[in-house]
Amino acid sequence: MSVKRKAVALYSGGLDSTLAIKLIQQQGIDVLAVYFRTGLMISDVKRLKGKAFRSPAEKYAEKYGFDFRMIDVSYEYFDVVTNPRYGYGSNINPCIDCRIFMFRKAAEIMRAEGYDFLVSGEVLKQRPMTQHLQSLQLIEKRAGVQGLIVRPLSAKELPPTIPEIEGWIDRERLEGIVGRNRQRQFELAKELGIDEYEPPGGGGCYLTDESFARKYKEVVAVEGEMTRDHLFLLVVGRHFRLPTGTKVVVSRNAGETHALEAMKRRYWFFDTVGQGPVALARPVGRKELTEEEIGTIADLLAHYAKGEDGTVQVMFSAPEGVESPGGTVIGRKLDRKTLEDWLVR
Ligand code: SF4
Repeated sequence: MSVKRKAVALYSGGLDSTLAIKLIQQQGIDVLAVYFRTGLMISDVKRLKGKAFRSPAEKYAEKYGFDFRMIDVSYEYFDVVTNPRYGYGSNINPCIDCRIFMFRKAAEIMRAEGYDFLVSGEVLKQRPMTQHLQSLQLIEKRAGVQGLIVRPLSAKELPPTIPEIEGWIDRERLEGIVGRNRQRQFELAKELGIDEYEPPGGGGCYLTDESFARKYKEVVAVEGEMTRDHLFLLVVGRHFRLPTGTKVVVSRNAGETHALEAMKRRYWFFDTVGQGPVALARPVGRKELTEEEIGTIADLLAHYAKGEDGTVQVMFSAPEGVESPGGTVIGRKLDRKTLEDWLVR
């Protein structure tokens, strides 16, 4: 009697990974669709901001009846972003290291839970950094899964994998797609009954975003380091750099207010108390804020607060470990020009 084989698939909710899973399922393989949550995808952040939002992976796994697991890897992923062995793409996207990391994580599940191989929706030569044969092979090697990643959309154009050689799956029933033209994927979607999916384009990753990359580089240039908190804060709020070097992050909505409030013990915290936004502030190279800075941050908040006469009462508190009773200060709306000058875009 032949052994029933099973595979772990990296799943994003996009068309390619949906098709990849369908093509493997068609061959009688049980597939576990896994989404590794880095905290740096737009869908992850929408969730953080409190919107009633399900990640595309969650949504489409349910729609297509996939066995699905979402795993938070944001803590470990920090090292991938800040110290990538293979460097960055055009922004702060460490794509090669990111893929190695994802396959390593998937392989941990594969080995621990008795799965036989991995599945990926990658298409040969679709993306410049990670999807050339050389990079695909490098990624497999560094992830310790040589011959164990089946890429059903391009399989016929790639060297045979162990599951094909061993006859667990039939190579002839896989595809041979190469490049960016998605025509064959659209045909396959029709054939396989995929009528809805996350739009293509690889968007959604903050690390490929120019504005995110500028903010990231600005923090490293001014503060000399990137911490987990700093990285997390880059996807929250409006960012200002005061002339003194102090960084100020101002919330834009209730979800962001909630996210900043959760960090108030580690930073100077400013609250307009029911009048709108809150702010976190971190001075650079010192722990205390000057009185002038406290006033300035209140003025900044007044710009975004609901106060009718352009003023707002702001309560502030110091982080743990800083001797300061905190207090209340009146903020007076800062002029737009100054605001624009300090805004980190
Ligand atoms: S675009 Fe983002 S999620 Fe995709 S491989 Fe690159 S770093 Fe990873």
